[in-house]
Amino acid sequence: MAPLRQTATELLAQLHAGQVTSVELTRAYLDQIEQHDGNVKAFLRVNPRALDEAAAIDKRRAAGEPLGLLAGLPVAIKDLLCTQGEVTTCGSKMLENFAPPYDATVISRLRTADAVLIGKTNMDEFAMGSSTENSFYKNTANPWNLDYIPGGSSGGATACVAAGMAPLSVGSDTGGSIRQPSGLCGVTGLKPTYGRVSRYGLVAFASSLDQIGPIARTAEDTALLLEVLAGHDPLDSTSVDKPVPAYSQTVGQPLKNLRLGLVREHFGQGLDSEVEAAVREAVEVYKSLGATIVDISLPHGKYGIATYYIIAPSEASSNLARYDGVHYGYRTDEKQLVAELDRERAELVAAGKHAEAEALDNPLVRLYRKSRAEGFGPEVKRRIMLGTYALSAGYYDAYYLKALKVRRLIRRDYDEAFEKVDLVIGPVTPSPAFKLGEKVDDPLAMYLVDLYTVSANLAGIGGIALPCGFSSGGLPIGVQLQAPPFEEERLLRAAHMYQQATDWHQRYPSMIA
Ligand code: GLN
Repeated sequence: MAPLRQTATELLAQLHAGQVTSVELTRAYLDQIEQHDGNVKAFLRVNPRALDEAAAIDKRRAAGEPLGLLAGLPVAIKDLLCTQGEVTTCGSKMLENFAPPYDATVISRLRTADAVLIGKTNMDEFAMGSSTENSFYKNTANPWNLDYIPGGSSGGATACVAAGMAPLSVGSDTGGSIRQPSGLCGVTGLKPTYGRVSRYGLVAFASSLDQIGPIARTAEDTALLLEVLAGHDPLDSTSVDKPVPAYSQTVGQPLKNLRLGLVREHFGQGLDSEVEAAVREAVEVYKSLGATIVDISLPHGKYGIATYYIIAPSEASSNLARYDGVHYGYRTDEKQLVAELDRERAELVAAGKHAEAEALDNPLVRLYRKSRAEGFGPEVKRRIMLGTYALSAGYYDAYYLKALKVRRLIRRDYDEAFEKVDLVIGPVTPSPAFKLGEKVDDPLAMYLVDLYTVSANLAGIGGIALPCGFSSGGLPIGVQLQAPPFEEERLLRAAHMYQQATDWHQRYPSMIA
């Protein structure tokens, strides 16, 4: 079988057995990128040293040296993880030339595991978005139909796996950004429990929600990558010091007496009928595998979007204050700025408006303003304004504090549900992928795409999206499983059980030969 159709687990076995080299594999993926990424636009930058990295691993293998868990496998990286000395843009003009002086912890872990870093993938600016159309650089297309969005904000990371341009990729999920585009691209993606993976070197969006996680074709491959990414890190105080299970070893063990909670509220208004049918079909598959289906309620889930869109922008407004045009990142043209201030002052003085002339910005304040006005895109500005408003005196209690209280209730709903069930099952998104451009002028419609994903982030729990069907238009549909904190093993085993009984994860878009 052509390498692009194989799973990371299969490819690893072939690498170990000497049936293929890392250089051959890496070249196959680079060729696929070369041929199709002009259309898909999943990558912002391909690593020019990928083949050298592969060759170095092949050489060490030939010399009989011990190698890491991912030895020789290409992995793509969402462009918000710091790679030392290499540009890391976060999809923003603000960081167009930012080459971080250090590696994110997950990048160091990938290097230690001897992965080949094949390139950095496109994303919504600062991970804010659900379609990757908020990237400053380009719009990524859905490999199943190039007129459609791949989802977001990790749209490049999921599209490249769907398109056979990398067997594995790393994304981030603040309100659904791994699960939602995985569902829309027909791949498997896992958002770990808050604290499972170190975020040191992740460009922060909303620090109480952000998690890094794996994207792959199958649950088995997702397990393999999570095993490399997860673990405590002294450099991230929110990472939890809990042993990392050998996910790749246990993923194949089926779960007995599985109790799946079907959330009543998830099957109401707004859910596309084809998505509903595919998810219900997935539930039937689990039943046939011996699972018991329990009707459950998450009554506060309906406030998820409202709560998320207060908390996430509030944290973003604080995190993004660091981009001031002084420390690093984009800076407006200073000569132009000084000339502009001089001109404004002269005009005001000429008009006799001395007080106004006196009140003009000082150059530093104008530098902050202009750098931020020019460096951030419209959605990022909207979030900064929403967040600043929600945190401002007089509104803090009414918005931010209230959102925190609702967040607590959302978590409590899950705690109660998990007393009765092992996992929650439901849709990933209300509908399959929509057309590029369809929702760009309607931020609220774009926010509603996160209906089924934000609650897991608010509650801090893990979730996985996996392919479970196609729309009549030929676009992938995903099903989501959610688990109690630190039960990634359960998520992966349940997902693998499903993939052993179905072949949705083995469908390939036409660009994969
Ligand atoms: N779509 C959501 C947002 O725009 C989630 C993004 C994410 O998870 N990074 O905020």
